[in-house]
Amino acid sequence: MTQEQQEQKQIRVGVLALQGAFAEHIILLNTLPQVSEAVAVRNAEEISKVDALVIPGGESTTMALIAERSGFWPALQEFVRTHPTWGTCAGLILLSEYITSGGTLKGDQKLLGGLGISIKRNAFGTQKESFEAGLHVEGLEDAKRLFPGVFIRAPVIDEILKPEEVEVVAKLQQDYGKTPKGTIVAVKQGHLLGSAFHPELTHDNRMHLFFVKMAQDWIAKHHK
Ligand code: GLN
Repeated sequence: MTQEQQEQKQIRVGVLALQGAFAEHIILLNTLPQVSEAVAVRNAEEISKVDALVIPGGESTTMALIAERSGFWPALQEFVRTHPTWGTCAGLILLSEYITSGGTLKGDQKLLGGLGISIKRNAFGTQKESFEAGLHVEGLEDAKRLFPGVFIRAPVIDEILKPEEVEVVAKLQQDYGKTPKGTIVAVKQGHLLGSAFHPELTHDNRMHLFFVKMAQDWIAKHHK
């Protein structure tokens, strides 16, 4: 850790807990000294008490539906617009601006947006086509050690709509079924991070550390 990072304030991280793999994110986030506490977030009151948010994997349509029906959607959308947020898998889908294909609702699915990308849902097929892929993640600690990317009915990023703002963080390093090597599976844009894979289903906390440091840096610059 650099001097600067050591001096940065610990942050309180929320994990959207409407549906999906939220408990696993909470466990991994709580292993990091940079995190004062990681907590489940289910409503406007809970989200108002966290500095950053993780939207887990699960089912993006279900999460959107629950958030909307419970009246949480506007507060969630406002938080994502103004605070560091990381979406994994279904979370990445919710953070994208546009869905190309692969979902039952196609272009009509309700999205939080923010990431200038278009996404293809269920790009690798069904649950049976789940796999683990070693990934080189740009900027990860000990980056030479590949990150175990777990892909479960995962989306891929099929187009960067705002190339001047969106940074590519990880790409597939080999072909998987019909999905070619070089397909983008993680991106960063300002205060937003999105990954098609599930770092919470591994014992490797480096992606969580990457997000938390990114969040700390962003908060130090923007929330004085
Ligand atoms: N296929 C799911 C969706 O469209 C995402 C899968 C996942 O999060 N593991 O929301």
